Amino acid sequence: MTVLAAYENDLRAAKDAAETASRAKSDFLAKMSHEIRTPLNAIIGMTELTLATPLTPEQRDALDTAREASKVLLAVINDILDISRIEARKLELAVEDFDLRRTVTAMVRTLRPQAAPKGLSLHLRLAPAIPRYVRGDQGRLRQILMNLIGNAIKFTRKGGINLTVRPSHTPPTAPDTVSLDFRVADTGIGIPRDKLEHIFELFTQADALVGEHYGGTGLGLAICRELARLMRGNIHVASETGHGSVFTATLAFTPGQAPVAAADAPTPAPPFPKETGMPLRILVAEDNPVNVKVATTYLGRRGHETVVAGSGREALAALARETFDLVFMDVEMPDIDGLEATRRLRDGQAGPLNRHVPVYAMTAHVLSGAKDRCLNAGMNGYLAKPLDFKDLDTLLAGTTSVRASLRESPAPAAPEPPALDVATALKRLGGDAELLREIQDDFLDQFPGKLRTITLCQHMENWEEAALAAHSLKNIVGAVGAEAARILAGRLEESLRQADAATAAELFAALKASLAAARQHLLDLPERQTGAPGSSP
Ligand code: ADP
Repeated sequence: MTVLAAYENDLRAAKDAAETASRAKSDFLAKMSHEIRTPLNAIIGMTELTLATPLTPEQRDALDTAREASKVLLAVINDILDISRIEARKLELAVEDFDLRRTVTAMVRTLRPQAAPKGLSLHLRLAPAIPRYVRGDQGRLRQILMNLIGNAIKFTRKGGINLTVRPSHTPPTAPDTVSLDFRVADTGIGIPRDKLEHIFELFTQADALVGEHYGGTGLGLAICRELARLMRGNIHVASETGHGSVFTATLAFTPGQAPVAAADAPTPAPPFPKETGMPLRILVAEDNPVNVKVATTYLGRRGHETVVAGSGREALAALARETFDLVFMDVEMPDIDGLEATRRLRDGQAGPLNRHVPVYAMTAHVLSGAKDRCLNAGMNGYLAKPLDFKDLDTLLAGTTSVRASLRESPAPAAPEPPALDVATALKRLGGDAELLREIQDDFLDQFPGKLRTITLCQHMENWEEAALAAHSLKNIVGAVGAEAARILAGRLEESLRQADAATAAELFAALKASLAAARQHLLDLPERQTGAPGSSP
């Protein structure tokens, strides 16, 4: 008996030691991945910066290759980080309410540009029986689906991919949960039967040729299966060489509620969108010198003035001292982090000067409810690191200089597009005043209806219809010469296509005001004073 007990003890000690060693390895990997990511972000940032300067075609080609390669490397590092977190049991899932249909629809939309150049169809079918709101980790759900669909696109040459979401036949593993099947079917090269289970193992590909032809590391599916298991589910595959593959992720969610829409969240007044390149004064709160350099160099090149704060505390001090048009806030900073600094700013702890200034987070953690945490802290949105300069440009284009809007009199050569430019509209019609009059009447008749359609469709989250209405409104107001409204309608269309409710709400309000101004301008025209009054918005 004592021999047996001693034996058991030894066994337990050996098991504990093995587990500790394994966790230490995973900890080490997680730490290393972090250390590798920072300089890698700098490489990507600096490459992007150099790409924005005049270059010979050869230089551009070389840097394009460097940029693509570093993005691939970053994706690999992110995968390794995930795996080591999973193995160290440090991966936590976010718990948040989200709109399942919307998340899945938006995710599919982002993948279409990958499928289209290969001539592949990408269809989504959401069974009516699936719940609309669920509670779980939408970032990780997105990651699983993007991986499965990304693979399907990668390994398919002809035909297409179908994603179907429906209630699962597999009974839920926990009470009060719903199990859903996310089924990704492709018409691709398929997988040999004897390899089917192995593809879920770490660093495993169906055969050596796969890596050669298609690239990849064989980490994606291993991560997906682990994530699925963490989400109280699993992933299975059915496939035959040459006849396509079907991956089914069965995942459990608890029923959720409608999340507080970003537009309803207690965030400060959004920046008024504007398309002029007014120089802005921007606070960059970031402790990493390389990231600071990338951001300030880029912003400087765009003609903006930057002030750098190396910590949350320094950021609050700067915000108390001088006026800014915009703040970029690193989330992970020493002393006070970006979220806490923003909370204090909105609370008025940095005085009134910048209390409502737009604040955008810069974070490498774009998954797991990061966006909600930023919005809840009072931020207006976030930018993913490494910074994508296109996102940055879009954001800058939408930010007005606070100092300019505080000025008593308008700037002498205000570059603001006119509410209504009758002369240009007339010129475009070859001087046909009669035709212009008809177009103006159409405008007055039609724009209130279009606004109503957009409101209604937005309410029903029918983003496609809403975007169509915005598109048609853009044409109507363009013809009449309402330039400011045309620009806003174009941007509204874009945000509706991306189902970006918060931006759409801002743009819609600005568009409505701009249309009201154009309408008034039109009714005040001397040649219309005898005409019929238009309908009011
Ligand atoms: P990676 O794609 O990075 O190599 P994954 O873990 O995502 O790694 O996939 C492992 C292997 O499974 C792939 O290399 C490929 O051989 C096979 N595979 C995955 N998805 C498909 C698919 N839709 N069609 C054919 N083979 C696939």
